[in-house]
Amino acid sequence: MKQKRQTHSGFHHKHSLGQNFIEDEELLEQLAALSLVSEEDCVLEIGPGLGALTKPLAKRANRIVSLEIDHTLIPLLSVTLEHFDNATVIQGDVMKTNLTELVHEHFGDTASLRVAANLPYYITTDVLTKLLRELPQAKSIAVMIQKEVGDKLLSVPKEDGYGPLAIVCQYYCDVRRALDVPAACFTPPPKVDSSFMVLTRRESPAYPVISEANFHKLIKGAFAMRRKTLVNNLISCFPLDRNEATQAIEASGLAAQVRAEELSIEQFCTLCNHLTSMISTR
Ligand code: SAM
Repeated sequence: MKQKRQTHSGFHHKHSLGQNFIEDEELLEQLAALSLVSEEDCVLEIGPGLGALTKPLAKRANRIVSLEIDHTLIPLLSVTLEHFDNATVIQGDVMKTNLTELVHEHFGDTASLRVAANLPYYITTDVLTKLLRELPQAKSIAVMIQKEVGDKLLSVPKEDGYGPLAIVCQYYCDVRRALDVPAACFTPPPKVDSSFMVLTRRESPAYPVISEANFHKLIKGAFAMRRKTLVNNLISCFPLDRNEATQAIEASGLAAQVRAEELSIEQFCTLCNHLTSMISTR
């Protein structure tokens, strides 16, 4: 069993919770600076661990709320953060927490909100998707993730990794790799290198769509069966027959046999608008 690894304070790292901590103070200061947090900002941090990143974030922020699943860390965090009046730690699972309500409760509706985290890697995709959906007001989301997932977020049509996550992130945000961080910078070191990615929310999405709900449905459905053509995926997720789906694809200026991985985000948006009009005029 390689589940637990003991370090200071009698604390045992739990591999199952993605507990790879950063101890290098220079690196932590650099990450906090790259998170774009300044004194007017309220920050939501996911997974504070022992509070190593929480401290430099709290120094820069107006207020910070940190959500940590591991209850054994809560008393340790209260010691680490005792001199930070603007820091609050909440015990909870990010995947089971309504982040819209949490932020409303702690910061109100008008706060200048940013998110920062050295994420637990086992839930990277789900957390990013949740943050984008539940916190549209967040000005930026700065996250440490696996380098390979960072590549995915930046991918373009026909590249490996291009899919729903890249499209949704790039649709709502300007995505930037702020720093590559080798595995050796973590305790214990994970098996892969990492990247610190900064997603800055656009004022409005990259291209206008009539229905964002249909856009999400389209992105998910288009890649559901990667070996199939787009038309075959469309008839599985929208109430359309083959002729209608082909008509929508061709009206968007695309070839009838096109595959989802060939479409740019702009082309997905154009297709989404044709599908939405077709479905609503029935
Ligand atoms: N921020 C610390 C650092 O940089 O050293 C710790 C980062 S560590 C990669 C990820 C943290 O997320 C751990 O403290 C872990 O317990 C916590 N975590 C794991 N799953 C979580 C979940 N579902 N909800 C909230 N926190 C979680």
